[in-house]
Amino acid sequence: MENVIIIGSGPAGLTAALYTARANLNPLVITGQELGGQIATTTEVENFPGFPEGLTGPQLTELMQKQAERFGARIEFDSITSVDLTRRPFRLVGNNAEYEAQSLIIATGASPRKLGVPGEKELTGRGVSYCATCDGFFFRGKELMVVGGGDSALQEGLFLTKFASKVQIVHRRDSLRAGPVLQERARKNEKMSFIWNTVITEVQGDKAVKSVRLKNVQTSEETIKLVDGVFVYVGHIPNTAIFKGQLEVDEEGYLTVDGKLHTNIPGVFAAGEAHDRWFRQAIVSAGYGCMAAMETEKYLASLE
Ligand code: FAD
Ligand code: NAP
Repeated sequence: MENVIIIGSGPAGLTAALYTARANLNPLVITGQELGGQIATTTEVENFPGFPEGLTGPQLTELMQKQAERFGARIEFDSITSVDLTRRPFRLVGNNAEYEAQSLIIATGASPRKLGVPGEKELTGRGVSYCATCDGFFFRGKELMVVGGGDSALQEGLFLTKFASKVQIVHRRDSLRAGPVLQERARKNEKMSFIWNTVITEVQGDKAVKSVRLKNVQTSEETIKLVDGVFVYVGHIPNTAIFKGQLEVDEEGYLTVDGKLHTNIPGVFAAGEAHDRWFRQAIVSAGYGCMAAMETEKYLASLE
């Protein structure tokens, strides 16, 4: 039986691993499908303190992992499919194994929200993508559309201009949510242009994306545009489905926690975007990971 299992290996999970390892709790991290979490899918991280020149998401992940392992954290490549939090020790079932733990830190983060339009699912991996770092390379000289008006859409859209001949940002409003630095870079980039007040209503293609159907939300006018790929950056949904019915969540599925990151079950803590819908920055999730680890340590000490 483990003292503490950390579910998730993003900035929250790996920071919780570092702190619980340094508290001699010998933590086990279950990585999930994405070692490093969302940050591992980006090429440019310019705002994580301590790296004045910036670094890539995979580099940051590797450093965090190494630092946690240095103090004894163990990393297990598995995904949890169900949990039983009604019994002690808590029981977790993964794809590869079953686990028992006295305490849990849930750092399962969030996954990209889908557009939910016809053709999106069928053409995912064949022109529809949620990860520019992973798939941008395949679109050398091609014309792309990026959906969304936040930091992710602009940052990843800018990255895609390294490969694509043209990147059009489709946004449902006429002003961007993204921060001013990225907005300025995007506006200055010659390969980038904007289609305002518009949503994609269908992704079309047979073996690969060929075009999209667009709808102007103000005039309801519909047009078809030829494109080779569609990158979707329209926010995230929390990865909390496996805790449904056992842990309290809000109406959008974010875990409910108190100010010290305790969930409604003693010994189960949450850290990062599984509960935080507001800040959504790597450094914030890392901070939550630290807080959850410190509370876990206190909880385990109280059991003794
Ligand atoms: P996540 O990063 O979402 O990690 C969740 C972890 O949980 C993953 O390891 C996943 O595999 C695991 N998991 C999920 N379900 C299970 C399961 N059932 N079993 C086991 N494991 C599971 N922030 C910045 O500060 N600067 C940036 O420049 C920046 N750029 C970004 C660019 C993009 C394209 C995106 C999408 C986000 C960016 N962010 C950036 C935001 C940042 O990535 C997130 O705030 C941060 O990754 C959230 O960390 P987290 O640990 O809470 O969750
Ligand atoms: P976000 O800030 O939630 O932006 C999502 C965008 O998608 C919004 O512009 C939203 O439009 C649009 N949208 C939502 N649902 C839609 C739908 N169904 N159809 C069409 N458009 C839709 O998400 P994000 O850009 O992924 O950023 C998440 C967090 O990560 C943020 O906190 C961000 O600051 C952070 N991040 C930071 C950096 C950086 O610091 N460099 C880079 C990337 C991400 P509305 O604007 O109309 O709501």
